[in-house]
Amino acid sequence: MAAVNAVEIFSSVQGEGPDVGRSTLFVRFGGCDLRCRWCDSPHTWQPAASCRVETARGTGSFRTLDNPLALDTVVECAKALDAPAHAMLALTGGEPLLQPEAAAGLARALGALGPEVLLETHGVAHEALPEVLPHVDVVSMDWKLAGEVRRASDPARGAVAPFDDDHERFLGVARAAPRVVVKIVVTPASADAEIDEAVGRIARVAPAAVLVLQPVTPRGPVTERPDAARMLGLAARAGQRLADVRVIPQTHPVWGAL
Ligand code: SF4
Repeated sequence: MAAVNAVEIFSSVQGEGPDVGRSTLFVRFGGCDLRCRWCDSPHTWQPAASCRVETARGTGSFRTLDNPLALDTVVECAKALDAPAHAMLALTGGEPLLQPEAAAGLARALGALGPEVLLETHGVAHEALPEVLPHVDVVSMDWKLAGEVRRASDPARGAVAPFDDDHERFLGVARAAPRVVVKIVVTPASADAEIDEAVGRIARVAPAAVLVLQPVTPRGPVTERPDAARMLGLAARAGQRLADVRVIPQTHPVWGAL
């Protein structure tokens, strides 16, 4: 049976996107092949030697298990956190689709416990998605702006082609999911032309998708957020091409939740 490299398994509530506030059990995968300037989980960039596992829901107490974890072990951890009592089970990262066999196995096994299965992904690994998609209820993919994000293998942002073609291929597969959310993180430096290009492609490929424009949470080298007028202007412009456009900042940093 497949095993997984995971960084954290814990119970919380969804902190961003259209499902914000819903009780969610998170399995955070280790390893990511992108480098976003605003990344809130750089501890997931490399596969982890061990995984932090919350021991009981709502306690904030953790134990440590060595990686890789058998999928059965993850399911047992989820049951110990009362997985069926959650609204959603989120496979997040890091990047879950760098471990597609594990992601598919966990989506299937955890989904059988009842809650909706949410796949949170950078939206680039289109070749891995078909294996996982049949077991997922919601795909939440990012649309990365090349001015803000680089591939881990590239020395600088923009050293290779932007992510638009990969995202478009990914969305062409993801649109078969029951629900699809596309998120664009906007910083003061984000280029309107890049955002307009993304919105045009989303409207062409998956017009029923929910588009979330997320003003960045300042961290690391990103020290400021875009102002409200900018966000409202972007939303108004995107709304001319997409039916469901929402401006939703991250909420968990406000109250210190994981
Ligand atoms: S894709 Fe996600 S985990 Fe990877 S660097 Fe970007 S924000 Fe961080």
